[in-house]
Amino acid sequence: MNTQEIVQQFDRYVMANYGRKADTPVIVRGQGALMWDSDGREYLDMFPGWGVSSLGHCHPHVVEAIRRQAGDLIHIDNTFYSPQQGQLAQMLSERAFGGQCFFGNSGAEAVEGSIKLARLATPESRYKIITMLGSFHGRTFAAISATAQPKYQRGFGPIVPGFKYVPFADLAAVGEAIDDETAAVMLEPIQGEGGVNEAPADYLRGLRELCDSRGVLLIFDEVQTCLGRTGDWFGYQDSGVVPDIMTMAKAMGGGVAIGGFMAKPEIARFLVPGTHASTYGGNPLACAAAIATVEAIEQDNLLERTHVLADRTRALLEKLAERHPTIEEIRGRGLMIGVQLNRPGAPLVAECLRRNLRINCTHDTVIRFYPPMTATDEQVDQAVSIMDEAMNAIGFDDAGAGAAAQSGQVHQ
Ligand SMILES: *Cc1c(COP(=O)(O)O)cnc(C)c1O
Repeated sequence: MNTQEIVQQFDRYVMANYGRKADTPVIVRGQGALMWDSDGREYLDMFPGWGVSSLGHCHPHVVEAIRRQAGDLIHIDNTFYSPQQGQLAQMLSERAFGGQCFFGNSGAEAVEGSIKLARLATPESRYKIITMLGSFHGRTFAAISATAQPKYQRGFGPIVPGFKYVPFADLAAVGEAIDDETAAVMLEPIQGEGGVNEAPADYLRGLRELCDSRGVLLIFDEVQTCLGRTGDWFGYQDSGVVPDIMTMAKAMGGGVAIGGFMAKPEIARFLVPGTHASTYGGNPLACAAAIATVEAIEQDNLLERTHVLADRTRALLEKLAERHPTIEEIRGRGLMIGVQLNRPGAPLVAECLRRNLRINCTHDTVIRFYPPMTATDEQVDQAVSIMDEAMNAIGFDDAGAGAAAQSGQVHQ
């Protein structure tokens, strides 16, 4: 099939919820920070897999692990023990806070399970979950109910009861919102979809004390920040503030669908038989991919590499900001970088794609620049200079360009 036929077939038989257009590339291959479309065109991918492919596309160690495991056993249900699931849980536990793990297949499921566990592990009168404005926790019902952004809930009501929203990074607001019915406070250590907003360390420390003193659990949604994205194994580790429950997904499986949550043992013990399950969760194939992801990060010293590459990327983007008044701020941590614009970023994302560079725009005006940990210096340099040229080419800094630009943010 040629490219046009692939697109026609797709548009006829697949639901149109992702906003693809007829000229959206058909991607058929990836390697590291590069991907190729069906016409053989090469793209530099600075947002690989929507935050999933932190190792870049098709890391050889992960590919090899998947090939090997697929020949032995792809799936076995959770009736049985399997070596991969236990090994992965130990690897994650030892790199975090010594908790126990439950495995599912996605971020939203991880959030769902965490909310269920928080309600289960606190007295029955406690059911409320406090979350933050601008948060994003996924697309299932409990997850959109936790997500304090009206656009994700519109049309789906009634949402799940028991969620209370407070401004991000406002400790006093959380203190006021907690009552005798509160089970947990949940937040992302760095808000991703909400525009790459980092929770200050003293705020996290304050939350920890507040939760402890009021008998409330603290949940960190680490779906986007886990497995090295920030330069640590987990986003919370920079602050040293340990959660009671933590979600994981995206980068966890090196591209294979896996998610899960970890809880301190004294909380995890509430998840007794019959309370929660996932048919695919923690299957040998997904776990082998996740084990290989952890191994690859360690073997190639990719946490250190993340810090070095992040410094270089930040410096380049700061220089870019000096040349372009539309850039207001560079923020984030590690290779989770947000470029705050003073206008909608969609036209810039589209122009970069025309120039074979993939970046992303979230929250209308924030460019997400997430190079894979395996990207070379040259690839990042090239990406930033393509952004520079693209901004010039579309007159992005011209007065009025922002107003004329369409606010066409497409969210998956
Ligand atoms: C992406 C994301 C989710 C949802 O993950 P899915 O795998 O799409 O269900 C939840 N929380 C955060 C913080 C995310 O970034």
